[in-house]
Amino acid sequence: MRVLFYPICCSFAAMYIEPSINDWLPITRKEMLQRGWEELDVVLVTGDAYVDHPAFGAAVIGRLIEAEGLRIGIIPQPNWQDDLRDFRKFGKPRLFFAVTAGNMDSMVNHYTANKRLRSNDAYTPGGDKSFRPDYASIVYSTILKDIYPDVPVVLGGVEASLRRVTHYDYWSDKLKPSILKESKADMLIYGMGEQPLLAILRLLNKGVPFEALDTVPQTGIIIPKEKAIPTNKSWRDIELFSHDECLKDKLKYAKNFRHIEEESNRTTAKRIIQKIGDDTIVINPPFPTMTESEIDASFDLPYTRLPHPKYKKRGAIPAFEMIKFSVNMHRGCFGGCSFCTISAHQGKFIASRSEESIMREVDQITLMPDFKGNISDLGGPSANMYKMKGKYQDLCDQCKRPSCIHPSVCHNLDTSHQPMIDIYKKVDAHDKIKNAYVGSGIRYDLLVKDFNKEGDEKVMNEYMRQLLDRHVSGRLKVAPEHTSDNTLKMMRKPSFSYFHSFKKQFDKINQKLGKKIQLIPYFISSHPESKLDDMANLAAETKDMGFHLEQVQDFTPTPMTVATVAYYSGYHPYTLEKVYTARNKQEKLDQHRFFFWYKGENMAWIRRVLKDRPELVKKLLARKEKAKDVDVSKTVKPKSKRRRS
Ligand code: SF4
Repeated sequence: MRVLFYPICCSFAAMYIEPSINDWLPITRKEMLQRGWEELDVVLVTGDAYVDHPAFGAAVIGRLIEAEGLRIGIIPQPNWQDDLRDFRKFGKPRLFFAVTAGNMDSMVNHYTANKRLRSNDAYTPGGDKSFRPDYASIVYSTILKDIYPDVPVVLGGVEASLRRVTHYDYWSDKLKPSILKESKADMLIYGMGEQPLLAILRLLNKGVPFEALDTVPQTGIIIPKEKAIPTNKSWRDIELFSHDECLKDKLKYAKNFRHIEEESNRTTAKRIIQKIGDDTIVINPPFPTMTESEIDASFDLPYTRLPHPKYKKRGAIPAFEMIKFSVNMHRGCFGGCSFCTISAHQGKFIASRSEESIMREVDQITLMPDFKGNISDLGGPSANMYKMKGKYQDLCDQCKRPSCIHPSVCHNLDTSHQPMIDIYKKVDAHDKIKNAYVGSGIRYDLLVKDFNKEGDEKVMNEYMRQLLDRHVSGRLKVAPEHTSDNTLKMMRKPSFSYFHSFKKQFDKINQKLGKKIQLIPYFISSHPESKLDDMANLAAETKDMGFHLEQVQDFTPTPMTVATVAYYSGYHPYTLEKVYTARNKQEKLDQHRFFFWYKGENMAWIRRVLKDRPELVKKLLARKEKAKDVDVSKTVKPKSKRRRS
């Protein structure tokens, strides 16, 4: 969105100017020529539609390249099944092709936890599901390498990031090597791409040849057997079990994971080396967490904040509709949940934007023509981690813990919610904002004094009051995920007893404020360590609490998580103890079925599977008689998209 500021009566006002086609990055040859560009420096191929907004990776990368004074064009959702003209439309870029599958792994985007094809794609106009291939990064990169064998290809985005070394691919049910191998790409960037990309662009601009870029932090490359592994005196190496060894021995694959996770989340990490046949994959250590000014700079780039106009006739882009009035305040998550990929991709250290940058974005949103005064989310991967960090950085610099809050909250972690109270109030006081909601899930455990023992109870309660009073639009999302302590331990989540404490506090404040806010708990079935009995207990315990669950999901083993390693190998990657996981389709369906104890078609089944637990059957099936008493304020309606915390 273009916003002009001009002086009126000694003050400054802003107005919205309808963007022109040249305000978007070019996606056609005609648009490239209109900018006066005969060729491009970088061509970016993406599996998502081009939405020029900081929540969309391709836009961030494109705008960053533009800000470096380079010429960038985007090929969004190219047709990979015709004569491949989309891939040729800009010709050969001067520096390299950048390839991303989009904001999601293409397989997670395409398939449900039960490997059923999804009916829509949130990142495509009209939700059309047919605009990207399976394993999009590999498909795009292979095509580019066939057409332009001498132009380097750099992979980025979550799909490449989480598939950087040997990983389990749930959809083909096998171990796959680093995506570099299958895609024939020359380099991959893992994690959030701004810092490594800037380093690459600046080195290339200085005249360093692409082949010499072998020690850029946060990148991965393949070294063929005839070449020596590059040296960097300040890095130490850790060698993983080779891909071939992992194929032969699941325990070795499991052992690898601990190193991958630890080195991805350390201030001074080691370089990771892994052999694949005669080649060697080298994963350089990550950049330090982005500073406030670095992350501000990324969010402050001149986005139009809109989808490219070519999509107008093809329908709305669901992912854009969901976030167009929302503000992402920070990146990273220190929760380290076993099933979640956020810390593997964004890191466990939080990079927070300044208040000024957040307020600038709020100002921009208020000028959008269809804005009605409601910010849908002041959030982040976990909404209430903004500005949280270690009290003493030198302790964090030595630390290898994958989670700062599991099994208990680290003494060094500053969990003050005051910066969030301040920014919420500031946004709320904006004269063009009616409501500023927090739509992202919150870490409820950080607000439970028994769990967050060193947290300031007064500030926690003030945060809860501010949140419930002003920033919840009827539903507060939290993610206890399970009720079984054993499963929760495996998940790196706190005991369910803390959820009971949280609910008490929630109910108290909700009542005091005279509100009828629904508490929406999320749960996962079939997670490693979850047994059918645990699910039966979960159903009974949540029923006792008055919940009528619908906001639930079955565990999907996405690449590069502790839970996925346990699912495939049968071992916990840290303790190396055996772990039970429901693996076959029927076991998974049965676990999931317990969420829906209240459906008539499940009653006979519940009686049958719980024949040895008559008390539980009685408890679960007492529903019919009690149906009239169901508290609708606690009834959870299905929602299209869940946000994890
Ligand atoms: S020292 Fe504590 S706060 Fe710092 S990274 Fe480690 S667990 Fe997190």
